[in-house]
Amino acid sequence: MELWYTEKQTPNLGITCLVRETLCHIKTPFQDLAVIDTLQFGKMLVLDGMVQTTEQDEFVYHEMIAHIAMQAHPNPKDVLVVGGGDGGAIREVIKYDSVESATLVEIDEAVVEMSKKYLPGISVGLSDPRVNVLIADGIKHVKESVGKYDVILVDSTEPVGPAVGLFSQDFYAGIYRALKKDGMLVAQTESPFFNRDLIRSAYSRIKSVFPLTKLYLASIPTYPSGLWSFTVGSKCYEPEEGKQKPVETKYYNSAVHKGAFCLPNFVSELLEAE
Ligand code: SAM
Repeated sequence: MELWYTEKQTPNLGITCLVRETLCHIKTPFQDLAVIDTLQFGKMLVLDGMVQTTEQDEFVYHEMIAHIAMQAHPNPKDVLVVGGGDGGAIREVIKYDSVESATLVEIDEAVVEMSKKYLPGISVGLSDPRVNVLIADGIKHVKESVGKYDVILVDSTEPVGPAVGLFSQDFYAGIYRALKKDGMLVAQTESPFFNRDLIRSAYSRIKSVFPLTKLYLASIPTYPSGLWSFTVGSKCYEPEEGKQKPVETKYYNSAVHKGAFCLPNFVSELLEAE
């Protein structure tokens, strides 16, 4: 008998995949966690019924959350990833020789453990000697860090449960303090089709803290609507400028870097209201 998995992406829309095998399904102290092997997207990590990453399209998200800031910053040495326990963002960050330390602060140890077990191609960077994995609340870690990081990437779940605070004004102000004087932030900010209020509020909160704030886009098939946004806050470097440091990627390149900031009218209108 065929088994299909459906993620209810909005109250009125679902995405459905044919399942080869359910590899793991557990309740962690923070969320419901499943790893499902699908015919279309390979293995996928699902938290609280929402697809977080899949073997087939993870490269788009992980490259685009990491390389915009890693290229725009001339010399990123100390990098923090908040959330992102699958390790994909860290894998991209450590492609740069300038990186001396890459810290991952993930609240749910099970995400790290299950990703190491079932998604080795994504979690591969976690064993790099420059990487320090902290199992802790990213909000607390950011609050306790001052002038420490060149780049901070907020690779969060949707703003539910422990991730609610990762979209707050206080958190962005804490990130500003945790960055060095020329630091940069990138946060994933969801779909411009389905999360307009979230994008508007995250953008205006980041803009109230950082002198340079820009939104950029990427196409990610398994995320709701397929069109995804990221918001970058920078203390001084122009985010749209890729420095073209050599890096091996499948989606990112310097033309994509510039093009990602070209916004369709309905997206720029969303931000103009701010
Ligand atoms: N790429 C994904 C997306 O946009 O769907 C995000 C994936 S990543 C696995 C998100 C991670 O953020 C989850 O593993 C979750 O446990 C973690 N997280 C949520 N709230 C957190 C917090 N306050 N501190 C640290 N990690 C947190």
